[in-house]
Amino acid sequence: MTKIDLHDYVASVENYPEEGVTFRDISPLMGNGAAYRDAIDQIKDFAKDLDVDLIAGPESRGFIVGSPLAYTMGVGFVPARKVGKLPRKAVSASYTLEYGGVNELEIHEDAIQPGQRVLIVDDLLATGGTINATRQIIEKLGGVVAGVAFIIELEALHGREKIMQAGEVPFLALMEY
Ligand code: 5GP
Repeated sequence: MTKIDLHDYVASVENYPEEGVTFRDISPLMGNGAAYRDAIDQIKDFAKDLDVDLIAGPESRGFIVGSPLAYTMGVGFVPARKVGKLPRKAVSASYTLEYGGVNELEIHEDAIQPGQRVLIVDDLLATGGTINATRQIIEKLGGVVAGVAFIIELEALHGREKIMQAGEVPFLALMEY
């Protein structure tokens, strides 16, 4: 069987969401069973020696990566939600957005127990703000970041360096642009 090239399932959209930006749309990847499964399986393989207790993913495309991964690994999934959406007591962290402005994410305070090892996943790493905010919340709750994994890394935005500045962690990006 020919190996799947996940690049064939990324649609690059010029000047979206604003002039000069190329948006990498993973909808074709999610819409193809074989490509979607291949991406999740590659992340599962990366995670196999990381002793992962939980998967965490930021709203909303982090849910699309994290939920099938949690299911296939047989561990729980913790959503990092945009502020104001969780019904119970939560811990939050704010971050600056790639295209300007500030956003805030939060996780239920009982979602992670001290010492639990959490793998953070998202569809794409840009500046690293989203992932570092998710990480901050996990660490405030006493969790340990076991690793971080993305379908795409936008290298020019140096998000990986920003993540490592907060402390070295195992890193995976299935594609680099
Ligand atoms: P960061 O916080 O690393 O600057 O931005 C990453 C977040 O923004 C991710 O949650 C991701 O879903 C979203 N994002 C930013 N740029 C893109 C893009 O070009 N394509 C996709 N699919 N998501 C993006």
